[in-house]
Amino acid sequence: MTPLNHGSLTSDNRAAERKQMVEKQLVPRGIKNEAVLKSMLRVPRHLFVPDRVQAFAYHDGPLHIGEGQTISQPYIVALMLELLAPAPADRVLEIGTGSGYAAAVLSRLTAMVYTIERLANLADKARARFRALKYDNIEVRVGDGTRGWPGEAPFDGIIVSAGAPVIPRTLREQMKPGGRLVIPVGDKNHQELLLVRRKPDGGFTEEISEVVCFVPLIGQEGWDS
Ligand code: SAH
Repeated sequence: MTPLNHGSLTSDNRAAERKQMVEKQLVPRGIKNEAVLKSMLRVPRHLFVPDRVQAFAYHDGPLHIGEGQTISQPYIVALMLELLAPAPADRVLEIGTGSGYAAAVLSRLTAMVYTIERLANLADKARARFRALKYDNIEVRVGDGTRGWPGEAPFDGIIVSAGAPVIPRTLREQMKPGGRLVIPVGDKNHQELLLVRRKPDGGFTEEISEVVCFVPLIGQEGWDS
């Protein structure tokens, strides 16, 4: 017999840890979206981190994934996805693929995920993970996500997984009326997590969720490298 797709094999022996993560880290902090909780129960987070930190994959914090970048704390992933409120038919853009974990969780909630990463090495690894897990509704591109993905715009939702100095104008323009954008905006150390909605008349509303701490969004409409 050929080795099974390692998603189904190794996901089961960490299922108890995922259940704990959901019950101890997400639910008590107020995450209510059932689809988000269910997706986080299923996606094998330990396969999205380097081997040396696999033992800590379900801990209540971010982890280093190489190249000076991090995989976000499980709670932050859940919070961002709850704010984004993806619907099953939505097409969503993510900026900052990193390990690919947030895109993977999102891909179980929505029709199609387009994700952009500026570091080719991380993008390649994320792509390989999606292939191994047979998550085939995710497209990964290497580039500057502050410019969005013009060929696939507009989007029902956009999620930015890195801290921006301002909301990139290009990303606003790539939102559908009724669309949502979740983005941390602030300085390089702390940001406010914002939920921006595009109204049917094209205008925008903004709400502040929480203070968060993300690695910088580097690009033309972000920070200088
Ligand atoms: N969502 C990721 C966390 C990513 S950390 C996860 O689940 O693991 C933020 C990522 O954003 C880093 O990998 C960083 O390289 C990337 N990044 C920073 N600026 C970017 C830009 N302008 N375009 C695309 N990716 C960017």
